Amino acid sequence: MALIKTKGLVIKEQAYKEQDKILTIFTENEGKIQCMARGVRRQKSGLLASTQIFAYGEFVYYPGKNFGIINQASLIEAFYPLRNDLTKMALAAYLLDLINNAFDFYQKSPEILKLLLHVLFYLSGGKAKNDLVLVGAFQLKLVSVLGYRPGITQCMICESDQKPAVFSIEGYGILCKNCKHQATGYSYKLSPGMLELLRDFLRKPIKELKEQDASTEDATKVNDLLDHYIGYCVGKSSKAYTFYKSLLNPLSKIK
Ligand SMILES: [Zn+2]
Repeated sequence: MALIKTKGLVIKEQAYKEQDKILTIFTENEGKIQCMARGVRRQKSGLLASTQIFAYGEFVYYPGKNFGIINQASLIEAFYPLRNDLTKMALAAYLLDLINNAFDFYQKSPEILKLLLHVLFYLSGGKAKNDLVLVGAFQLKLVSVLGYRPGITQCMICESDQKPAVFSIEGYGILCKNCKHQATGYSYKLSPGMLELLRDFLRKPIKELKEQDASTEDATKVNDLLDHYIGYCVGKSSKAYTFYKSLLNPLSKIK
């Protein structure tokens, strides 16, 4: 069987047997794959660093029926600083969870992988003015690439340009105040700041958005809205987002 070689990011790791792991890797050439990494939970394993969650590396594996078997792996970037900041790590873990939920096995998007690597690099290096802006931009760009780009220029029902009042999850975009009552399902009230953020996330590249600030209130609401929207579009909600939110407000968990 021919070996496959591709770059990829470990988006999920599960312990398997005594010393092995089953990794889910979002790769450049093969899409989302699952691979067994043997003996990598031993301290002496040469593959220890390259087979952990958040590891971006070059992987060589034997393709298999259910999962591949890792033969070699060399680490390119580990995003180590993420591990020193629980909030950043929870946010980054959420992005990986989004990919895991949104992509089927062997479905690929080198464009999204590249975007994710940029966002992880900025998050990990503390290079962004506002991490929530990065996360929101990733959410919106991801869902757009998946084919669910929301309508945010005009009302989704009457197509007028008048001031949008809400973002309707099931309406796939914004609605004006005259149409908002026709929406089914959940709608988010939009502040001017939230609308501006949504529009910026779509039209500006990530390199520009990392320099952009926003009010925490607007950015948080947009993150919540987009998480809800992605969950609706891909048919699966993210537990990692719930975990991240519980870190921000520990009391909400106890209630
Ligand atoms: Zn309308």
